[in-house]
Parts: sequence; structure tokens; C-alpha cells
Amino acid sequence: MGHWAERNIIEAIAGRQRRTPSDLIQGIGDDCAVVRKAGGLVDLWTTDALVEGVHFDPAWHPPYLLGRKAANVNISDIGAMGGRPRFALLALGLSGTTSDDFAGKLMDGFLAALVEHDMVLIGGDTVYSGERLMLSVTVCGEMAENEVCYRSGAQVGDLIWVSGFLGNAACGLELYRCGKDKEDRYSSLYCAHLDPQPQVRLGRLLAARGGVHAMMDISDGLATDLAHICKASGVGAVIVADDVPLADEFLHAAAMLRIPPVQLALQGGEDYQLVFTAPESSSQSIRIIAREAGASAICLGRIVAGQSVLLYQNGKSQDITFQGYEHRF
Ligand SMILES: [Mg+2]
Repeated sequence: MGHWAERNIIEAIAGRQRRTPSDLIQGIGDDCAVVRKAGGLVDLWTTDALVEGVHFDPAWHPPYLLGRKAANVNISDIGAMGGRPRFALLALGLSGTTSDDFAGKLMDGFLAALVEHDMVLIGGDTVYSGERLMLSVTVCGEMAENEVCYRSGAQVGDLIWVSGFLGNAACGLELYRCGKDKEDRYSSLYCAHLDPQPQVRLGRLLAARGGVHAMMDISDGLATDLAHICKASGVGAVIVADDVPLADEFLHAAAMLRIPPVQLALQGGEDYQLVFTAPESSSQSIRIIAREAGASAICLGRIVAGQSVLLYQNGKSQDITFQGYEHRF
């Protein structure tokens, strides 16, 4: 596997894209592409692939939950713009060792996730994929054009919020890798890795009436994903280590694994929580919306002038811009 950085490849591909039709509002560079349609609405498009040995290990990932995850990581990107997911396409690459039972449970989980979000599978492809199982999913969503939350809207002075605990999924993965995979006290950490929950309802409410300036989902670790918001918005950010929401079971596991907890929480990937920025005047409505959505909203920093993501910890500040996780088992 090459040691390229994903965002450099994306920038190189985006740079070769010349045509921008007038109905294309946002192309490469956000959680979803945004395409204008009639009635003040837009379509949202996103795609994400999961590859065996890179994004999941079938040794510990039950096929039903793997199918759910393949759908939910895409659904999360729709929620991150504030949209409603509607349709899915699935390209399923089955390896030589995939059993009918495994493939059946995989599809059960995938379709169950779609049903939960009132979505429909409208097409796809099934191929033989050699040694490794692969799922490539495309999801289309919909929303009002004037409510879309882009990465590029953050403003100096905004508060930075996240929708829940950080690091649980990365910690769960680390526990599986170390073979510490059967401890009841860590069940929420295993679950965060195996079966992430996209924050669609919260995203929709925040976009509709949360007064939010910028939003995205946290897939590569807050240190990297917040850096994307900063880069797109031309601003910097400061995160306060003491305000990073960490679960008790996460702190226990991180100590046992001897990993610094704040670093794991900010650099570990696959939280699929939302990160969003909003002026202080929106704080009360954000808290009300979070309660209504059955979610959390935790303020952990502020947008500042500059271009770096800084972490304040123990009286010192440290540059963590793009220090997040890149999938590489
Ligand atoms: Mg995303």
C-alpha cells in the first residue's frame, strides 16, 4: 500500500475537474456534493467504501453489523450537511471465502439500516473481488437549498461543538486488535466501532434552526476533520483538552492500553459524531435542539483567526492540524 495522504489525492483529483455546471452548488470538498433541483431543494450525493483488512476485520466484525456500518457511514455524511437520506446504491465485492450465510447477514444489516432511515436501495452491482470483501455505497439525500451546512462557513468567534463522546470507536478497535474483546465494561466501546450511529436527526434540526455556520461528521478524528473546516473557512481553531467529552469506560480502557486519552480521542477515527460551529448567540437553541434530538451538544473550543488547529492542554498549546487517523491496519 502506498503511503499517500488521502487529502492530497483528493486535491489532485479535484484539480483536474474542469466542468462546473450551473446546478452544481458544491462538488468535491465537502461531506456531500450538492446539486440544485426544483422547488428550492437540493440533492446531496456521497459515497464511501469499506475494504476488508483496511476498514474492517471479519474476524471480529459480525456481518450484520458490518452491513449496517456500510450504510450508516454514508448516511452520516448526509446528516452532516443537515439533509434527509433517501436512496442508496450498493456495489458489493465478494471474496472467494465469503460464505452465503455471511453475505446474507451482511445484506440483512445493510437493508435494516436503510429501513430505519426510511430509505430505499435502488441499484448496484455484485462482483467477485478476489481476496478481500468490499462494500462501496452511494447515498443520495435531499434538503432545502437555503439550509445546507457546508464546511466553509465557520467564522472567527464561533464556538465549536461536538455531538457526543470522542474516541470510543478508535478505542474499541484498539481493544479488538489487542485481543481484549470480551470485557463487559467495554461493550459501548466495541459497539462504537462495530455499529456507529449517524446523527441524522440532530443534523437536520441544527441545519433547519440551530444557527449553525459550519458542520461535518467526524470520520477521521476531530484533529483532521476540524482542520478541514478551518481550511475551507480560512480560519483557525482552539480546542480545550479539559472540555473534550470522554466516556468513563473510554478513560478506563485508555489507561489500561497506556494510550494518552485526549490524543486518542482527537486523533482516532470513526466517531461519526457531528462537529459544528456557531456564534455564541446560538448556544441556547443548540442545547434545546440536542435535547429534542435525544443527542448531546458539548462545546469544546472556539474558532480563531489563523489556519491551525491548536490543542490547549496543561497550560500549553500544541498544533494538531491534520493529526487524525488514516485507515491503515
Ligand atoms: Mg464526512
